[in-house]
Amino acid sequence: MAKNNGKFTLFLMLCMLVFAVCFIIGMDKCEYAAKQVNFTDKHNMSTARQIVSDRAQNTSKSVKVNGGKIELLCLMYHNIVGNNQKQGDYEVRVNMLEQDFAEIKKLGYTCVNRKKLLEVVDNKKYGKYAMITFDDGFYGVYKYVPKLLEKYDMSCIVSVVGEFMDKQDKIEYKTRCSYMNTNEVKELAKNPRVEIAQHSYDYHHIKNGRKGVKIKNGETSDKYIQTFKSDTQKLTDKLKSIGVKTKTYCYPYGEYCKESESVLKNLKYQMTMTCNEHLNYVKGRESLYLLGRLNRSANCQNINNLIAKACNKK
Ligand SMILES: [Zn+2]
Repeated sequence: MAKNNGKFTLFLMLCMLVFAVCFIIGMDKCEYAAKQVNFTDKHNMSTARQIVSDRAQNTSKSVKVNGGKIELLCLMYHNIVGNNQKQGDYEVRVNMLEQDFAEIKKLGYTCVNRKKLLEVVDNKKYGKYAMITFDDGFYGVYKYVPKLLEKYDMSCIVSVVGEFMDKQDKIEYKTRCSYMNTNEVKELAKNPRVEIAQHSYDYHHIKNGRKGVKIKNGETSDKYIQTFKSDTQKLTDKLKSIGVKTKTYCYPYGEYCKESESVLKNLKYQMTMTCNEHLNYVKGRESLYLLGRLNRSANCQNINNLIAKACNKK
């Protein structure tokens, strides 16, 4: 019995030893696992920190996102019409405009106005940017666009013709093709999402051998500069009388000449826009003259197709 008791005690001691060893190993394993988790966490944290820092650098000069390019897509709209109205090359329904705004974002473009664009080029913030422009100062723009700018957090440039505004001042009624009168331009200009641009006071026509503001064959530079300057001044004064200043000129029909560019640069315009259908790759403030724009015709399915079409043309 005493012999058995001894064996039993030995067995118990062995069991306790095994248990103790297992316990210690188990603890170690737990600690190791805990350390592993900790390492993984720390690793994840540092990876996350790396990603954040990479993203921050992407907007700085050191990492060249978008291939080290500042791509600028300028879209040119004219009139905006109701959803039950006829649309075409120069008239886009409001629901199509809304689809465009959503698509621009989906395609990865950041919407900019002139001031934001200057900041982008000055600080070499590489990436894809879009600028929305509406030419001629149609009443449909006044009526439909501000709500969508707000909804999609976007901004735009609306180029107006002085003569069209003055004519509209004398007309009481509005039709689908009406322009904004002076008061409507004044009101629209108060919207911080909108910049009013020059589209000439009285050059929006093809008359006496001149298309838009372009110098005529045989016209002397001096005479041309004088007349173009005084037309620009006329609209500048008109806009000034309603508290509007602008540094952007959108050429009627996209027509320009070296003399018009030199006049506008002397008048401290910071941006001029044509109707040449291509994407812009901008580099510094000097590259913001003669920007290309894609005409948003309702006959093109979507913005992506519009870009593809313009790129294939090149
Ligand atoms: Zn126009």
